[in-house]
Amino acid sequence: MEKIETDVVIVGAGPVGLFTVFELGQLGIKSCVVDCLEEIGGQCIALYPEKPIYDIPAYPEIKAEDLILKLKNQIKPFKPNFLLNQKVEKISKDNNFFIVTTSKKNLINTKCIIIAAGNGSFGPNKPPLKNIEKFENKSIFYHIKNKSMFKNKIIAIAGGGDSAVDWALELSSITKKIFFIHRRKKLRAAPSNVEKLYKLVGEKLELIIPFQLDSINGKNGIIDELILKDLEGSEKKIEIDYFLPFFGLSSELGPIKEWELQMEKNILKVDQSTCKTSTDGIYAIGDICTYPGKLKLILTGFSEAAIASHNCFNRVFPNKVLHFEYSTTKGVTGLK
Ligand code: FAD
Repeated sequence: MEKIETDVVIVGAGPVGLFTVFELGQLGIKSCVVDCLEEIGGQCIALYPEKPIYDIPAYPEIKAEDLILKLKNQIKPFKPNFLLNQKVEKISKDNNFFIVTTSKKNLINTKCIIIAAGNGSFGPNKPPLKNIEKFENKSIFYHIKNKSMFKNKIIAIAGGGDSAVDWALELSSITKKIFFIHRRKKLRAAPSNVEKLYKLVGEKLELIIPFQLDSINGKNGIIDELILKDLEGSEKKIEIDYFLPFFGLSSELGPIKEWELQMEKNILKVDQSTCKTSTDGIYAIGDICTYPGKLKLILTGFSEAAIASHNCFNRVFPNKVLHFEYSTTKGVTGLK
């Protein structure tokens, strides 16, 4: 257990939480970032590190993992204090301060809290296969960090949504063969991509539709074969190297629901002009916040990071006056 003093606790180290370290730092405000994942980067790293993003201003194309790397470099001068692998569980008030308790029992004394918690702590929906955990991260992956490992391999992809179809399209150029499994005839993914997928059917891509997953054979975490059944119960066995089930994610808001903040459909309601939640001193930005017209985009989250940070200033420094300055005027200040 550690006792930490800071000006602002940022809940979530996704792209928006990371940029908040910069915005606060530029105003001379110290922050501490907590994330339940073991790596920084939020959805960008956990879900689509190798996918190119096309709508980050001034980057015609940037891979999600590169965006996170650039944010990490941008906030370096502010020596960010990351508490990873731990969830923010409890928030309590002590006069003008908040006490934030993490799942590793760290206690952080802070003047403000900025919640940048995305969809909450998320995890993959796993197929109900016996002993699946023995194969996870060896031959079964729920998200892809390094696509080169599938080069010249035989893989099975299961699911009917965008992730399954997108990854089948993306990996088809490097794999030896892809078995694409879905339990319904119709795929839910974007029609234009489904059309592209059907065009690939042939030697390198086989559709196994409608089939259900039945069981896995293999040992020491290495899959030998995947056993599938059709709706009449007839069995089909496929020999594969890797299995990638994409059945979506379930995100869990978890403790955030207990912080007594006003919510709308499981998202925190904020005042758009300040990003304040219903409790003074607690702000919400990025995917976790909503207001009329909210767009769940990284660029919107960056703007909210600037708004919330400027609004924290008077609470952190009650005796100072905030003079708005461009970064071109003051440079990157760093924290003393
Ligand atoms: P997140 O990235 O979700 O990060 C939130 C972090 O908070 C997570 O790491 C989580 O572990 C942590 N957390 C949650 N609760 C707690 C807690 N109690 N304690 C500690 N930590 C907690 N956006 C675009 O702008 N352009 C795109 O092209 C684009 N493409 C996308 C493609 C895909 C496949 C997906 C899934 C999303 C895409 N997005 C895109 C959306 C974009 O990724 C999100 O808008 C962005 O990640 C939101 O950032 P965030 O920092 O608010 O939240």
